[in-house]
Amino acid sequence: MTDLHPLTAAETERDTELRALAEQAGRDLEDASALEIVQWAVDTFGARFCVTSSMEDAVVAHLASRARPGVDVVFLDTGYHFPETIGTRDAVAAVMDVNVVTLTPRQSVAEQDAAYGPRLHDRNPDLCCALRKVRPLTEGLAGYDAWATGLRRDESPTRAGTPVVGWDEKRRKVKIAPIARWTQDDVDAYVAGHGVLTNPLLMDGYASVGCAPCTRRVAAGEDARAGRWAGLAKTECGLHA
Ligand code: SF4
Repeated sequence: MTDLHPLTAAETERDTELRALAEQAGRDLEDASALEIVQWAVDTFGARFCVTSSMEDAVVAHLASRARPGVDVVFLDTGYHFPETIGTRDAVAAVMDVNVVTLTPRQSVAEQDAAYGPRLHDRNPDLCCALRKVRPLTEGLAGYDAWATGLRRDESPTRAGTPVVGWDEKRRKVKIAPIARWTQDDVDAYVAGHGVLTNPLLMDGYASVGCAPCTRRVAAGEDARAGRWAGLAKTECGLHA
């Protein structure tokens, strides 16, 4: 999907160094606090480090802004978000000491509908995610060496092995999950303790917030991501798998 070119010798050498750095940090920081993990990323990568946020909440953005005020917070505007998600993005930009960077797909929803037919998300969600999420994020991260996410091991079985620092082979970046070891209770405590912005849909039965056509409320006892692509075998959009 994304245009690839053969790696130069210098790029291969850089990747080898960054991968080794990431794998060593993953071991060294396994028991570190989320703030210590983010601080390591800021100290190591400076302006070439960013946070990505789905605007479900601003927990990792808040942590990163404590370590580096004005840190870049990258938001992927797929064109299919709930209005509450766009509102959360705007509120984060207005009140937090971060620089929100909004990425958009190459095609608008209307252009995609014209090219592929309407409701591609129902007929081929993997292609829709590739066009509207994976490619724009890969392109948007080109100027960074490292990115942080809000992935947590307790969200779903597919995320149970998430390292706190690892190597993102798909994008050739260091990938940081500062709250990988946190539980939902830890997130709730941080939100309450620091007055962190959260998406209002979390108070309306949604446990995980993605694109509107592919997200439903969850029932008691379901895992947090059960409301994403419900009824399909799909569990990840391709950003993290
Ligand atoms: Fe398309 Fe759904 Fe993926 Fe959003 S989550 S990009 S609407 S398939």
